[in-house]
Amino acid sequence: MVNIDQSKPVMVTGATGYVAGRLVEKLLDEGHTVHAAVRSPDNKEKTKYLDKIAEQSKGTIKYFKADLLDEGSFDEAVKGCELVYHTASPFSLNVADPQKDLVDPALKGTRNVLNAATKSGTVKRVVVTSSCAAIYGDAKDLQNLPNNTLTEDVWNTTSNLSHQPYSYSKTVAEKEAWKIANEQNQWDLVTINPSFVLGPGINPHATSESFDIMKQMGNGDFKMGAPHYEIGAVDVRDLAIAHYNAGFMPEAKGRHIISAADTSFLELGGYLREAFPNYPLPSRKLPKFLVWLAGPSQGLPRKMVANNIGYPWKADNSKSRKELNMNYRPLKETVTAFFEQLIEAGEIKQR
Ligand code: NAP
Repeated sequence: MVNIDQSKPVMVTGATGYVAGRLVEKLLDEGHTVHAAVRSPDNKEKTKYLDKIAEQSKGTIKYFKADLLDEGSFDEAVKGCELVYHTASPFSLNVADPQKDLVDPALKGTRNVLNAATKSGTVKRVVVTSSCAAIYGDAKDLQNLPNNTLTEDVWNTTSNLSHQPYSYSKTVAEKEAWKIANEQNQWDLVTINPSFVLGPGINPHATSESFDIMKQMGNGDFKMGAPHYEIGAVDVRDLAIAHYNAGFMPEAKGRHIISAADTSFLELGGYLREAFPNYPLPSRKLPKFLVWLAGPSQGLPRKMVANNIGYPWKADNSKSRKELNMNYRPLKETVTAFFEQLIEAGEIKQR
């Protein structure tokens, strides 16, 4: 049980990111002082969205320059904080060097941030944004689970540097977080394990991978059809509430799958087609062999196609409903609002 003093500042790493943006908004709206640890505090293009929210809210934002790869670089930002949110980690599915571009920042960054928390002498709780990617690697893995369902007890055992390296980076980083947490007794660790995050962010031009898939759909990349790819998804605004409650509910404990519903790209495309009939959205399923043939030229390696396309995906979100009071909004509302935001921002071409 941990009681966080609401008047103390709260550190958020990667505060200018897509997921963190809605969390910082929630913290500011609730009147907290946010220590925003970011790579580029002077980049107004990135900070202007948070600055505008701060101006209109009860809370205060202070920026600190920090890089996941620089040891000690979070020490200043964490000063005086009882609560730390560690969200920063590269989310990219196509990188040149998986070790350097994904694993190093995820793993070294986790060590840096958590060691800064221990050194601070003030931190009582750390909430790490992990992922469902630390729970499973490929949809095929679910075939070996009880009820073919993902739960908080499951760990990803199939990803590595050459297959699903982003998922591998999230797995090693979360494992490291639990190891460091168990070596000290000053703060407790709570992890948030979201499925695919969608929905309008505070910055309509964000670079998270979440935006790419929506833009691809809107701009016609799947007009001939979409692969039968099942996933879980959650609204970025609900994810902010999950983070907030994980930080401030004294009894919050352990890992939490944060996922509104089990779905597929085809189902999400169907919701969009109803709302935006003039856009070239996917209406049919692409046969697996076609995806297998064309996959590599579209950035989908054959092993990924073989182990994911056509497999059912199911996750149990009951812990988050019971212990973090989560109540998820329907995905139809999430994707519709997201698509609308991207049209307005010119990220999806007007019809
Ligand atoms: P994002 O917008 O790309 O955010 C990633 C953040 O990490 C950015 O703020 C980025 O800083 C920061 N970062 C990357 N490398 C860094 C470095 N070397 N030093 C300091 N900061 C660094 O992506 P996101 O979707 O919001 O992801 C945020 C977190 O959610 C990640 O931990 C991701 O794994 C997790 N997650 C995301 C999803 C999803 O579907 N989006 C699902 C599950 C979990 P800059 O602003 O300077 O680039």
